[in-house]
Amino acid sequence: MTYSAPSVPAAGLRLHFNENTGGCSPAVLAALRSIAPTDTAFYPDYAPVTSAAERYFGVPAGWVQLTNGLDEGLHVAAQAAGRGRANAAAIIVEPAFEMYAACADAAGLREIHIAPDADFAFPLRQVLDAATPDVRLINLTDPNNPTGLAIPADAIEGLATLRPGTLLLVDEAYAEFSGRTLVGPLLERYRNVLVGRTFAKAHGLAALRVGALIAHPDALAPLRRLLPPYSLNICAVRALEAAMGDRAYLDAYVAQAGASKQLLYDFCSARGIRYWPSQANFVLLRLGPDAGVVTAALAARGIYIRDKSSAPGCEGCVRITAGVVEHTRACLAALEDILASRSR
Ligand SMILES: *Cc1c(COP(=O)(O)O)cnc(C)c1O
Repeated sequence: MTYSAPSVPAAGLRLHFNENTGGCSPAVLAALRSIAPTDTAFYPDYAPVTSAAERYFGVPAGWVQLTNGLDEGLHVAAQAAGRGRANAAAIIVEPAFEMYAACADAAGLREIHIAPDADFAFPLRQVLDAATPDVRLINLTDPNNPTGLAIPADAIEGLATLRPGTLLLVDEAYAEFSGRTLVGPLLERYRNVLVGRTFAKAHGLAALRVGALIAHPDALAPLRRLLPPYSLNICAVRALEAAMGDRAYLDAYVAQAGASKQLLYDFCSARGIRYWPSQANFVLLRLGPDAGVVTAALAARGIYIRDKSSAPGCEGCVRITAGVVEHTRACLAALEDILASRSR
C-alpha cells in the first residue's frame, strides 16, 4: 500500500496529526538561531548528539541510532528484514499507523494484516498463528495509534521470544505520554527487538524530522548498513540537543495533554459517545455514521480532526489530538455546536 498523507492545511487548528499543538520549546528556537555559518557548511558530527540521546534514554554507548524522523527508522527496519530473502513478510496489527504498510511495500515485503479483536483487545493469538518463519518483521505500536491503547507487556515479550530471526519493532512514538517504555533489560536479552522513538510528537519537532532507534548494537548493525551517513541536518541536531535539555517544557506539555484527554472523556461521557481511554496524546471516539460529515463541518471552521472510519475496527470513529487545553476547548465548543445543529 502506498501511503498518501492527508491534505495539510496551512492554517487553522491542527488536531489530526497528533502533533504538539503548542509548538516546540523556546530553547529549540534559540538553538536554531545560534547556528553559525560554518555549522551549515560542514557535514555534521553526530557523536555528541548521539551520546546525549543515549544519556537521555538511559542506555549504553552504541545503543541509539538517530534517524531522519522515526519514519526513516521504520523504512530501514523493513529493508533489513527483507534483505536477501525471497518471500519475506511483515505483520501489521490493525488498526495500525499507515507507514508500516508503506515501508513493507517499499522493501518488497509481503504484508500480513491482523484484524482487530473485539474492542481492540490485542490479538496475540492471531499474531502468533500468523508468524510463520517467512515473517521477518512484526510492527507493534505501544501505545497504539489510532486507539491510544497499550499492548500488554506479556504479549510484547511473548512476541520477542518467538523467533530470533524475526525483528520485533516496537514503535513508542507516544511513550512520553504513556510514561512506559520497553527500553531496559529486555533489549539486552532479545537482540531482535528494536524500539522506535520520535521527537515529532511530544517534543514538537515534527517539521525538523528527528527520530531514534534504540536497541542492542548487534540489533542495530544490519540497519546501520542501510542508512545514509548524513540523515540528520544540522537544524535537527541542534534542535534535538535543546529539546532533550528542556525537561520542564516536555513535562508541562504532557500535563496539558492529560488535561485535554480528560476534557474529551468528559465531553463524550456527557453525550453517551463511546471513546477509548488513551495512553497517548489523542483520543479515538465513535461518532457513528456522521463521523465524516462532522469532520468536514469542523474543517469548514478551520478545525482539523482525523476521520478514521475506514480503518479496520474504527467504523464511525474520529481521532482528536489532545494538546494544549485551550485548543481542545475550542474544538469541543465547535463540536458541540455541530452536533447540536445536526440533532435539531
Ligand atoms: C507520528 C508517528 C511516527 C512518525 O514519526 P516521525 O518521527 O515524524 O517520522 C511514527 N510512528 C507512529 C506510531 C506515529 O504516530
